[in-house]
Amino acid sequence: NVRVRFAPSPTGELHLGGLRTALYNYLFARKHNGAFILRCEDTDQTRFVPGAMEKLIDLLSWIGMKPDEGPSLGGHYGPYVQSERVDIYKQKADCLIGEGHAYRCFCTPQRLELVKKDQIRSQAVVQGYDNHCRGLSKEKVEEKLSANLPHVVRFKLNNDKHQWEDLVFGHMTSEDLSRQEGDPVILKTDGFPTYHLANVVDDHLMDISHVLRGSEWQSSTPKHLQLFAAFGWAPPSYAHLPLLMNEDGGKLSKRQDSMRVELLREEGYQPQSILSLLALAGGAITINPNVVKEFGVTLESAAEHFDIKKTRRENTVLEISKLSELNQNCLKRIYQTATKEDFCAKISEIATEKGYSIVSLDLLHTNFLQYCDRLDTLRDLFEGDFVYLWQRPSPNHVRQTLANLKGVKVGEALDLVQLLGKAVLNAQNFDEVMATLQSQTSLKKSIIFKIIRVVVTGHEVGLPISLIFDLLDAGEIWERCQAVL
Ligand code: GLU
Repeated sequence: NVRVRFAPSPTGELHLGGLRTALYNYLFARKHNGAFILRCEDTDQTRFVPGAMEKLIDLLSWIGMKPDEGPSLGGHYGPYVQSERVDIYKQKADCLIGEGHAYRCFCTPQRLELVKKDQIRSQAVVQGYDNHCRGLSKEKVEEKLSANLPHVVRFKLNNDKHQWEDLVFGHMTSEDLSRQEGDPVILKTDGFPTYHLANVVDDHLMDISHVLRGSEWQSSTPKHLQLFAAFGWAPPSYAHLPLLMNEDGGKLSKRQDSMRVELLREEGYQPQSILSLLALAGGAITINPNVVKEFGVTLESAAEHFDIKKTRRENTVLEISKLSELNQNCLKRIYQTATKEDFCAKISEIATEKGYSIVSLDLLHTNFLQYCDRLDTLRDLFEGDFVYLWQRPSPNHVRQTLANLKGVKVGEALDLVQLLGKAVLNAQNFDEVMATLQSQTSLKKSIIFKIIRVVVTGHEVGLPISLIFDLLDAGEIWERCQAVL
């Protein structure tokens, strides 16, 4: 039975790296008819960000990846929030102590500081803790416990070497950990577990069959395997996912805004274009890139074509610059498949939020294919050049700009505005407007264009004027003319 988990720590916002890990787990589960579990790893209370988990769950469901089990969803293996499982970890730590695989350590912060500076070292451990308390007698431990001395529990690293098959990186072997680093803390003074203990205990108790996680956790795996062995449990299979990189070769940083999934949603990117971006990277989603670009991917098609073993071992470059094109294509598909009402509702929602009216949704819908190549997202319809569909330019500003136009006197320009007002009400389209104006004035065509543009938008450059005429109705253009006169 395949059971996988996405196990984020609620310490910040979901970024594309985390989303990739979630996606691979989700696809692996779907592909193998397994379960996709969400587990909240919140044992580091100092880094806990309130609300982070709720946001993350919301973003996963926005993408369409609803976990089969998880916080607030329930399931047979809960609770799925580690801070609600503290008693379990404590009990498991006690088992390890009982079996001689772990011990209580009473070293004071002062002593640890000296060890860190190499001023005292009681064992032949190259770095980190010097395993001092491994040597405490039973009596000493009892004595310190009854004196209520604060302590942690440490796992005894041993010289077992493990071999395992990583589904991505292939055959792996671990070194003799006991010489390389001091025994790690598994239970902290406050009774909370550290990542290693909680992670291993939960992967076992939640019956996780495959661990798919970022390669930054690769170096923890030997320790986890020692813990599994100490408990006498069979470990899951592992697949480590290579680091995500920027197009310029730098490491993707959580701080980079474009990597925040929530921001991408706010900016109006469609979930499907984000999926497509991830599908183009890494190799495991074996759909032809041209097909991904043109038709996008769905979770269903990605799951069908998912093969974790095809994941490339090299760092994965995420081509963020392709996101605009992916989203444009996605918008076109939505336009072609959604009903007019649904499509207009999407635009109307943003317009209402911005408090804009003016342009008719009907005209926006009819002309969509004419202007969609200029939009990354539907929100762009309300920005930059498009703002003048929604906001009338100030008449003073228009008059000022007309007065400064080269090659035409103000009087002539205003005469043309007068003619324009009449022409738009009678003409069927922009070509007819132009034909009428040209027959009524001796101004050059390029000047006529310029005057029209200034009157309608307040600017001398911008969207093709014929497009603006397609999007604004005649009455609106007439109003803009009147305002100037
Ligand atoms: N809590 C870890 C994280 O934040 C999980 C690592 C793992 O999957 O083992 O990514």
